[in-house]
Amino acid sequence: MINPLIDWKILPRFDEIKTGDIEPGVQIVLARCEKKLNELEEANPTSWEGLMDPLEMIEDDLSRHWGLVSHLHHVKNSPELRDVYNKLLGDVIKFTNKLNQSQNLYKAYLNLQKSAEFKKFNDAQKRILKSTIHEAELNGVGLNSEERKEYNQISQKLAELTTRFSNNILDAIKAFKITITSPEQIIGLPTTLLELTADTAKQEGHIKATPTGGPWVLTLDSPCFIPFMQHSKSRQLRKKLYEAYISKASYGEWDNSLIANEIIILRQAKAKLLGFKNFADLSLSRKMAKTPSKVQKLLYELRDSSRTVAEEELKSIQKLADKNNFGKLKHWDIPYWAERLREKQYEINDEELRPFFPLPHVLAGLFELSEKLFGVKIKENIEKMSFWNKDVKLFGVFDLNNQHLASFYLDPYSRPEEKQGGAWMDSLVGRSIIFGSDKGKVRLPVAYMICNQSKPVGGKPSLMTFREVETLFHEFGHCLQHMLTTIDQGMASGISNVEWDAVEIASQFMENWCYDRGTLRELGKHFETNQSIPESLIDKLLKARTYREGTNTLRQVNFGLLDLEIHQTQLSETSETILDIQRRIDRETLILPPQESDRFYCSFSHIFSGGYAAGYYSYKWSEVLSADAFAAFEEIGLDNEDEIKQLGHKFRETFLSLGGSQEPLKVFVAFRGREPNTKALMRHTGLISELPNGEA
Ligand code: ZN
Repeated sequence: MINPLIDWKILPRFDEIKTGDIEPGVQIVLARCEKKLNELEEANPTSWEGLMDPLEMIEDDLSRHWGLVSHLHHVKNSPELRDVYNKLLGDVIKFTNKLNQSQNLYKAYLNLQKSAEFKKFNDAQKRILKSTIHEAELNGVGLNSEERKEYNQISQKLAELTTRFSNNILDAIKAFKITITSPEQIIGLPTTLLELTADTAKQEGHIKATPTGGPWVLTLDSPCFIPFMQHSKSRQLRKKLYEAYISKASYGEWDNSLIANEIIILRQAKAKLLGFKNFADLSLSRKMAKTPSKVQKLLYELRDSSRTVAEEELKSIQKLADKNNFGKLKHWDIPYWAERLREKQYEINDEELRPFFPLPHVLAGLFELSEKLFGVKIKENIEKMSFWNKDVKLFGVFDLNNQHLASFYLDPYSRPEEKQGGAWMDSLVGRSIIFGSDKGKVRLPVAYMICNQSKPVGGKPSLMTFREVETLFHEFGHCLQHMLTTIDQGMASGISNVEWDAVEIASQFMENWCYDRGTLRELGKHFETNQSIPESLIDKLLKARTYREGTNTLRQVNFGLLDLEIHQTQLSETSETILDIQRRIDRETLILPPQESDRFYCSFSHIFSGGYAAGYYSYKWSEVLSADAFAAFEEIGLDNEDEIKQLGHKFRETFLSLGGSQEPLKVFVAFRGREPNTKALMRHTGLISELPNGEA
C-alpha cells in the first residue's frame, strides 16, 4: 500500500497526506532506521563510505519524513495532527538518542579521526566528523547507564514540554478576539486593517461584515496587532489589546509560566550531567562565540552605545504627545505616537508605502536582484503541483545556463487558525551526493520559505508593509544558503553544520538590500498603476531607516541577555524566578519600566520551543558579520554594476556555497579579507554616523 508521507521521490504530494498516514508512515521509517543502525553497529566500519555514508542515510531518512510531519504541524496545525505528533515525538527522540549514544559508532568515529585516511579527507568531511563526535558527547555517549537513563528521561520530558509551550501560544492567540461594531472604535485605522479585520469577522460568522460597515474582529496576530497599535485612536482598546499581548500564555488554560520553569530546570540538569556548569556553557560549546562572556561583552557594548539614543527617542515622542496635550505616555500609547512622530519627521507612514509593495512585484524585484548578484534565475513552477494550501507556490532556481540548482516553496500569508506565527525557512531535503539519481549526480536542495504577511483582501494582491518586505528578503537569504551550496556532503551542505550564531548572516545580508535605492526602484511598483515608487518616497524611506534604532537595539539586547541569564541560572538552587530575571534584565536595559502584567517570557518561543536556547544573541552576533559583509558592497558603491556583480559572485562562492564545511570566521575572512568588527552595524543603525570612505 502506498503511504504518501513516505512514498515520494523528489517532492511529496502534500494534498494526499492524511493525518491517518502519519503514524504508520513514521513507524515504518523508525523501524527501518533502527534496522540500519543495528547493522551499522555490527559492521564495525573503518572507512568514510562504510561509516559516515550509512549514518547520513539514516539521519536523512528520519529528517526527510519526520521533518515533513513537523512542517505540517507548523503550517497546518489541527487537534488530530497535534495528537499524533505528540504521540510519535517520544519514539523519534528515543531513536535519535539511541543513534547519538551508540558506543560502537562513537568508537568508530574516534578511530576514523585517528586513521591514516583522515588526512585525505576534505574540509567538509573533517568538520562533519568533528561535530558528529561533539554531538555524540553532548548527547550523553560518555554517560554510564544510570546517568544515560536520566539523560533520556530529561530529553523526552523536554520534547513534550517545549511542544506544549508553543501550542499554548498558538491557542492563546487563537482564543483572544475583540469584536467591535461602533464606527467610533475604528477611527484612525487604515483601509488595509479595516479590510483584514472585517475579513476575520466574516470567518467568525459575521457573514455580512464589510470594511466600512463592520463588524471588525481584532486579534493578537501581528498583521492585525501591529498596525492597530500604531493607528487606533481608541486609547482604551489599545490598552486592552496591549495588555492581552504582553500577558499571552501566562495564565489560565494556556499558562506557560510553570512549563518555562520546568524546561529551564531540566536543561540545567542535562548540562550538569554532561559536565557543564550550566546550559549556556553547553549551548555555546557548539557556537561560533564559544563562551557566554564573549556574547555578554558584545551585548553590553551595544547597550551602552544605544541607551542615550533610545532615551532621546522616547523624549521626542513624549514631546509630540505633549504638544497635543496628551499627558504621560503609557506603553500602549508609544507605538501610536511613535508612528505620528515618524509621519511628522519623515512625512512617511507604513500605509502609504503598502500600495507600492504588492507581493508579485516584490518577488520579481527580489529575483532580479538575485540574478544580478549571484547569477541565478528564478522561475515559478507553473505545472500543476501539490501543496498544503492554495496560496503556496513552488519556484525553481537555475544557473545562467538554465541548469536546475534547487527549488523552494513559498507560503506567504498569515493563517492564525492553523499556522504558527513569525517567519522561517526550513529544509525539505538538502544537497547531497549520496542521494543523487545517478552516479556523480547530486540530489538538489528544496527549501520551505514561510511568512505570515498580510493576505490579499478585497480583490487586491497582498500589499506588504515594508517590514514584511524585509522579512521576505531575510527568509530568502536563508533559502539561498540552503539552495546555492556547492558542498556535496549532505551533513555539511547548505545550512547543515553551520553554527547557530553564524546562521543569520546570509539572511540579514539580504535585508540590507531593501535599503538600496536601485533595488527599491525595482521592487516598488504601484499595484494598480504599475508606476514606480516616487524618488521622494524612497528618500524618506532611506532617511527613516534608523528611526528608533536605539530603542530597537535595546530591545534585542534585552532579549539576548534575558535568554543568557535564564540559561545561566540554577532555578532549583535560588529564590530568583524567571520573572525576577526578566525584571532584572529589564531594569538594566529598558528605558521605560514594563507593565506589572508583562510576562514576555511566557511567549518567548525562540528560546523555549525554538532552537535559540542560550542563542537568541545569534541575531545580533550575525548582524555584526552581515553588516560588515554588506559594507564591502557599500565601499565599492552600490550602483557600480560590474564590481557589484563580481563581489556578489564572491559572496556566493563563500557564504552561500561553503555551508558548514568551514569555521564561520574562516568563511568571513575568505570573503572580506579580514576579521569582522562592529563599525558597519553601528553605522547602519545610526549609532555612529561616518560612512566607509569618511564622507558624512
Ligand atoms: Zn533568520
